[in-house]
Amino acid sequence: TELAELLDSRIRDVPDYPKPGVLFKDIAPLLADAEAFGALVRALADRATELGATKVVGLEARGFVLAAPAAFAAGLGFVPIRKKGKLPGEVHAESYDLEYGSATLEVQCDAFAPGEKVLVIDDVLATGGTVAASLELVRRAGGVPVGVLVLMELGFLPGRERLTPHLDGVPLEAL
Ligand code: IMP
Repeated sequence: TELAELLDSRIRDVPDYPKPGVLFKDIAPLLADAEAFGALVRALADRATELGATKVVGLEARGFVLAAPAAFAAGLGFVPIRKKGKLPGEVHAESYDLEYGSATLEVQCDAFAPGEKVLVIDDVLATGGTVAASLELVRRAGGVPVGVLVLMELGFLPGRERLTPHLDGVPLEAL
């Protein structure tokens, strides 16, 4: 589509970052481009509305940059899922394997009203570990995932397959 072509044209491939052999997708040029950034945020917000979401979750850190303006544009509230130790009060925690190591994500226990319809947004789906852990956190905090939106899915990694059991029918879409 026209949108996909615009977005793709603003993503920069950085070889050997953050370590040799890894091809890093850098979204900084996209974020810096008013037309592409605006079109992306608008598309995310439109899907939030279509999916019937009542809250938008962003995954630290680049997920925040996409999810917060999308939530605002859709007239919805925003909830952060953060790396371990950053959120005050009672939290749920999930550990997971990352493309470049391992990590723990957390969400505040009172983030959602029971049964709240939650859309999860992140920038890149690689191995799927980050999104899998986030879906579990949403459910443990009482939310009902209604969709996962990512800017891009790295098709050469088995992220989608790994995620399938965690998605449990929830649509996963890459713009
Ligand atoms: P996964 O858990 O392996 O799917 O990795 C996804 C997470 O790692 C996302 O939160 C991304 O922000 C980050 N990530 C992995 N690969 C890239 C990349 O090539 N560009 C930007 N972020 C990436």
